[in-house]
Amino acid sequence: MVGRYPPAHISAPAHELKRVEKHQRNLRDSPVRPVGASHKKARLLSNKTHYNPHDPDARISVKPGKARKLNYHCSMAVDTAEGVISHIQADFADGRDSQYLTNISLQVQNRLRKNELIMTDLLADAGYSNGSNYDFLEQRKVTGWIPVFGKYKPEIEGFPYNKEKDEYSCPMNRPLPFKGFYTNRDGSVLKNYWAAPKDCKVCPMKSQCVPNTKCKKIIRTVYDEQYLRAYGRQHSNRGKQMKKLRQSTVEPVFGSLTQFYGLRKIGVLGKAGEHKVMLMAAIAFNLKKYLKKGGRKPSLGIFKTIIDAFQSYLTIFCQQIRSRPVLLKAP
Ligand code: SF4
Repeated sequence: MVGRYPPAHISAPAHELKRVEKHQRNLRDSPVRPVGASHKKARLLSNKTHYNPHDPDARISVKPGKARKLNYHCSMAVDTAEGVISHIQADFADGRDSQYLTNISLQVQNRLRKNELIMTDLLADAGYSNGSNYDFLEQRKVTGWIPVFGKYKPEIEGFPYNKEKDEYSCPMNRPLPFKGFYTNRDGSVLKNYWAAPKDCKVCPMKSQCVPNTKCKKIIRTVYDEQYLRAYGRQHSNRGKQMKKLRQSTVEPVFGSLTQFYGLRKIGVLGKAGEHKVMLMAAIAFNLKKYLKKGGRKPSLGIFKTIIDAFQSYLTIFCQQIRSRPVLLKAP
């Protein structure tokens, strides 16, 4: 602790700290060292144990093939018809993409509704894959074109599922009925299916099927049906077209924002400041697109409105800058 600031403490639960420790051990033991690992000052740090006192909202994150550094997360919604940015926001970089989808979709839907437009389809990459997101989109009557993440298996080989009975059966034709719900330490709700121990005990296949436990157990997510529907859409012809559409719509816009609109490195501190810079970049991008599409040249009145809006952003932004605590490194 330095000066008058309170002592830092780690609020992350023990199981998350253990996970961090294991991950860092694996990185150290891995024959393929991460980018930047050979630098003499390189250290393995985690958002669970450290933060940057200069910019406490910034989070350590890493993109494949790039060195880990302090970042902000930028989420954006782009209209596939015209390539217009319909939403942009800054978030902490240690969150998953998937956790922001519901909030973004609600905001975009409300904004479109005010303009008498309806969102019917939503395209996103596998980072947004999540059972509760699929369920949310179905309830909002929006077709989600989000590929399921790689680890998901639509069926378990040798264990067919009976939807009416809500049970699996094994290669010896013994049932694995639904036994109850289970919430893991990350808060995900799962369904348990078990074979009867007395069946497995006398089964000639036990040594191959479950050599170390009393009986076979299957754990599935409660959103299995939503995952299956998403998986079906992903592998349909339309799903493949949608993937190409997503890649040719959103990804170039991200590229433009980072290359030409100043979002590669943002020179302000704090999430609120980052959010405003992102908004201004999106406004500039949309205005340019409007002019390119042959829109009327904006009158002085429009520019005045934009400058007024910008000034009010600056005012709010200045109000939100507060002195920041000096170092806090958790013990
Ligand atoms: S060990 Fe149990 S689950 Fe596996 S095949 Fe035999 S009876 Fe079925």
